[in-house]
Amino acid sequence: MGSVCGDGFAVRVPVPGEGLVFGAGSGALRGWVGAGIWEPGPAPCGGRSSPRAAPASAAAARAGPGRAMRAAGALAAAAVTAVAMAVVAWRRARPVREVLFFPSPPCCIEALLAEAAEPGAPARPCPCPLPSGDTALSRLVRRLLSARRSLDLCLFSFSCPQLARAVQLLHRRGVRIRLVTDAQYMGLHGSQIGRLRQAGIQVRHDQHSGYMHHKFAIVDRRMLITGSLNWTTQAIQSNRENVLVAEDAEYVKAFQEEFERIWEEYNPANYRFFSERQ
Ligand SMILES: [Zn+2]
Repeated sequence: MGSVCGDGFAVRVPVPGEGLVFGAGSGALRGWVGAGIWEPGPAPCGGRSSPRAAPASAAAARAGPGRAMRAAGALAAAAVTAVAMAVVAWRRARPVREVLFFPSPPCCIEALLAEAAEPGAPARPCPCPLPSGDTALSRLVRRLLSARRSLDLCLFSFSCPQLARAVQLLHRRGVRIRLVTDAQYMGLHGSQIGRLRQAGIQVRHDQHSGYMHHKFAIVDRRMLITGSLNWTTQAIQSNRENVLVAEDAEYVKAFQEEFERIWEEYNPANYRFFSERQ
């Protein structure tokens, strides 16, 4: 799974004397000790020379080159391990930056949904004929399913059943979902808004003649997903669209503030059905 979005990976670094070390601190350290890097050398002799010391010194001199070679090898292995660990740390800390282009070929996301619903459960093959490969849609779904605390959606049109199922799954998992949408488009045939509302997801809509035309999502107040894509099967499978995915604090802050502003503006408690003078 990790191969698709590049988040899950393991680095294997060969270390002499201990086979493979996985890029984790304690294991790597054990590898270093196993390789003899931390093994203290003989204390320098500062005492008087003795007749018996001469043969020992000769033996040490004979062993010297071999020992130096082993030490150099161990040092090289340690350097490789350190570099590999630094790469692992860098990749883990690197913010997500991804661009998805549509149209996306039809694909099955059952395995993604099943894994999100029940992590680690044995995969059950889906009987549908669609491939479950790496597509723009599957990547979008993965990003959404990475939500752990909140998902704020600001979507002009939302009629894609697959994306609706991903949102409902997150809702069932306890992720706080807020959805802002367009009043005119939420009532169209095939819209998923009613289904999401029935599932208990908070939905608010505009009250203006202009469209609520945004198409963005914010995952965990950390990751922005935005672009031209309406969340409709037609747009996903037929249109040329772009979606930018970015863990960028400045962009997320700007979009989050816009979301909060709209969310409050569309609060039903603020509706005015009649003018004050009536
Ligand atoms: Zn399927």
